[in-house]
Amino acid sequence: MAEYDVIVVGAGNAALAAAVSAREQGASRVVALEKAPEELRGGNTHYSGGLLRFAYAAPEDLRPLVPDAERHVAGFFRDVEPYPAERFRQDLMRVTEGRADPELSEILIGRSYDTIAWMAKQGIPLEPAVSLSAVRVGDRIKWSPGAVIRARQEGVGLSKTWFEVARERGVEIRYATSAVRLTQDGRGWVTGVVARGADGFAEIGARAVVLGCGGFEANPEWRARYLGRPWDHAKVRGTRYNTGDGLRMALEIGALPHGQWTGCHSTPIDADAPPHGDRKLTDKTNRLSYPYGVLLNAQGRRFFDEGEDFQFYTYAKLGGIILNQPGGVGYQIFDSKVTDLLEGRYKTGKPIAADSLAALVDKLPLDRAAARRTLEDYNAAVGGGAFDPAARDGLATKGLAPAKSNWAQRLDAPPFVAYPVTGGITFTFGGVRVNERAQVLSTSWAPIPGLYACGEMVGGLFHINYPGGTGLTSGAVFGRLAGAHAAGE
Ligand SMILES: Cc1cc2nc3c(=O)[nH]c(=O)nc-3n(C[C@H](O)[C@H](O)[C@H](O)COP(=O)(O)OP(=O)(O)OC[C@H]3O[C@@H](n4cnc5c(N)ncnc54)[C@H](O)[C@@H]3O)c2cc1C
Repeated sequence: MAEYDVIVVGAGNAALAAAVSAREQGASRVVALEKAPEELRGGNTHYSGGLLRFAYAAPEDLRPLVPDAERHVAGFFRDVEPYPAERFRQDLMRVTEGRADPELSEILIGRSYDTIAWMAKQGIPLEPAVSLSAVRVGDRIKWSPGAVIRARQEGVGLSKTWFEVARERGVEIRYATSAVRLTQDGRGWVTGVVARGADGFAEIGARAVVLGCGGFEANPEWRARYLGRPWDHAKVRGTRYNTGDGLRMALEIGALPHGQWTGCHSTPIDADAPPHGDRKLTDKTNRLSYPYGVLLNAQGRRFFDEGEDFQFYTYAKLGGIILNQPGGVGYQIFDSKVTDLLEGRYKTGKPIAADSLAALVDKLPLDRAAARRTLEDYNAAVGGGAFDPAARDGLATKGLAPAKSNWAQRLDAPPFVAYPVTGGITFTFGGVRVNERAQVLSTSWAPIPGLYACGEMVGGLFHINYPGGTGLTSGAVFGRLAGAHAAGE
């Protein structure tokens, strides 16, 4: 008899959702293999903002998830807008330019509310995502629809609670243990893994294996191979352990690749951010208030419509666009009219400040003559209208390329500040193809018996761009499915 019912590879949100779900559905011997040592455990989940995008028909549906929300945020259930499944679908399809796999999207969206409620039932505390989603307008708060709830204490809290829940449910966790290869019997059934731990290599048997071990964002060789230049130079926003091992293992036994292998999630981060995620800073290197300012490259030119949409719908592609500028850097410039609107995360940075735009430009390492001209042209192109940070206000530039389509105010109120940014990689989009049971399909389009995948390893959902807060929800939805079906093998 195999040593385990289910082996889960990884210990982030997706893998631990799978492990807990497998226990819930009757698997008695479940082990999670975590490549990282205990002090670096938890994958990207630890570094995340803990934000969860999911569909809900009415704000009242949120009450069971955050029953005491109004104790901290007055009028929460009054101010939040409904986010029905159709709106989630439209957001996902709009930002992925219609390429999100329709079948996987339906599973993700259709099961999103129920899965977040399941997480809450497992004991994961949730709260309104004030610092990520809320914009104060007078005495009301305007929430970004669909992305209003996060795990308490963000990713750090989410990861810590998942480990506690897994331990309470009897899931064994083996730290500093990497899966290196899948084993199969003569019929092609996956029978376990070969793992490398402190004592060397060992074969571990199971009735089913769930791969939840992330993408290849922390592997510069794979980034160069699939994403091309300059991605081998990108800073990694999260864990250093997601090096594509699960994808390699699955592809080696004939798994079907799926989704955009040249694509990834990448955001504007502090240009001085460390090469890999910092356990304490986590996602605080993000610089996502660019819709209220102007973004220049080292040639002193604008290169992106900063006001194309709300940050949650553009930030995940902007990192790559910045990385592809000369030197891989950009400068976000704001005037004092909007500095109160900058996300709290900007406090971890060191802005360059000056009392005039010309003096600010003089302090920046860019083509100064071009930058001065760009800022003059921008100011001259700003049209009329009322600025509203909580709505697509249509305050746009006229006759400027690229345009700024919303929130285009003149830069005219000193002091002026500049934040140097680069593009940091979050996770990769290419993955393996799974079906509605989260089983991995083979290149002959049949499930590989005994093999499941979840989280960043699932290909097909995200292309080009991504709606903020969807990664954790996807991990939980497909993790829960994978664990439940693996338990039945
Ligand atoms: C800074 C940052 C902020 C983010 N903010 C948000 C947010 O607010 N909301 C949101 O939805 N998403 C966010 N994301 C994305 C989100 O974190 C990921 O989509 C999600 O955590 C992926 O979960 P996962 O379980 O698939 O992978 P991970 O959480 O990365 O877990 C992968 C696990 O696999 C392990 N592993 C790797 N290889 C092996 C191996 N060979 N053997 C054993 N174990 C292995 C790793 O050590 C790790 O434990 C953020 C990401 C980052 C980096």
